[in-house]
Amino acid sequence: MTRRDDDRQTSFANAPDPEIASGSPRQTPPGRRMLALCLMAMAVGYLLTGWGRQWFAGRGDGEVEFETMNTYGRIFVPRGSGSAESPARLAELALAEVRRVNDLMSPAGPDSDIRRLNEAGAGEWVAVDPLTWTVVMEALRWHRLSGGAFDPTIGPVKRLFRFDQGELAAWPEEGELAAARAKTGAEKLLFEREGMRLGWAVDGMRLDLGAIAKGFAADCAAEALKRHGVTNALVDIGGELRVLGMKPGDPPAAWRAGIRSPRDGNEIAERLEVTDAAVATSGNYERFFTFAGKKYEHIIDPRAGAPLSEGPSSVTALHPESCLAADALATTMSVLGVEAGEAFLREQALGLFSRGVRVIMLEDKPGAGWRRVEMHVDAEGGVRVEETALPE
Ligand code: ADP
Ligand code: MG
Repeated sequence: MTRRDDDRQTSFANAPDPEIASGSPRQTPPGRRMLALCLMAMAVGYLLTGWGRQWFAGRGDGEVEFETMNTYGRIFVPRGSGSAESPARLAELALAEVRRVNDLMSPAGPDSDIRRLNEAGAGEWVAVDPLTWTVVMEALRWHRLSGGAFDPTIGPVKRLFRFDQGELAAWPEEGELAAARAKTGAEKLLFEREGMRLGWAVDGMRLDLGAIAKGFAADCAAEALKRHGVTNALVDIGGELRVLGMKPGDPPAAWRAGIRSPRDGNEIAERLEVTDAAVATSGNYERFFTFAGKKYEHIIDPRAGAPLSEGPSSVTALHPESCLAADALATTMSVLGVEAGEAFLREQALGLFSRGVRVIMLEDKPGAGWRRVEMHVDAEGGVRVEETALPE
């Protein structure tokens, strides 16, 4: 597994600020000193007991860090989250939602829906949990609307490559590739609404929700927090982020998300300020391989049946309420590229993502140079495009 910091394309630069004491210490009149000392001693005694410690812990920020879906995650519920419940408890409760999504949808899970489906042969039906059903139906919708650019069945092609940042020893043989391509295509995933059952039209197919499930998990965690009255929090699942409200403070501030530079993953290329939003990034500088001097990323172009290549690039998608949509959109736009991506946004703007969707593409592709392209969908479904050449 890659190092923690290397694993996120979007990351939060939001370490909780240290407390700053305001005002100067007050003078205590001499007669009250004794009383103050007694009260202090009682307070210390109280904090040393289990009860006191619990009360104290329950009042601080709540934060959990964890591994899930082949990456790392973090849930941060600040003191001042808006809920009366303890931030630590709230963070745990949101984490349980992430675990639930992971247990159902991880292809490696011992009894996950996706594992059972991937082990099923053609014609066998597999009943799945309503949550899995929801994500699969969303994935199929994105497949349809993107003209096949988003395809959760690219697994057999992806398996022929190793995206471990090394040099690929040999390109798979044409016959092998053709056989794998024959086992892809979301139109060969069969479903039966009644009973929520899934199945395959062809043997050897695999479902891979890697481009959408992290976003969904972030949504589940955020929605659980909202149900408990939380108005301020952040959820980060491997760089797919969902933030609620603002970062409490005096004054409260927007949450900040950094976009890593696709040319150098250790550099932050841009900082975004976000409130009540989802942010997801797909890029080719974390999981990739090189071959004959070219870099290939872990996103497969389903039309070519091969990994995407052509220079460093990243796509960050912002959506006002759905991290699933931001996640799917980032992957889709990576496959489509700037021109076809813009056409796709224009076509879908009114239906899928009116009101405030933004896409930021940083790329260094042959012919186009090192540039930043931002697309913004306005409330009327119009798409504004701004292109800037980036300094070398
Ligand atoms: P990340 O996992 O870095 O956030 P993405 O959200 O773009 O990046 O997801 C990439 C993963 O999605 C790949 O590792 C693969 O499992 C899967 N995938 C690859 N190509 C496609 C595609 N064209 N459509 C849908 N899923 C894909
Ligand atoms: Mg994605």
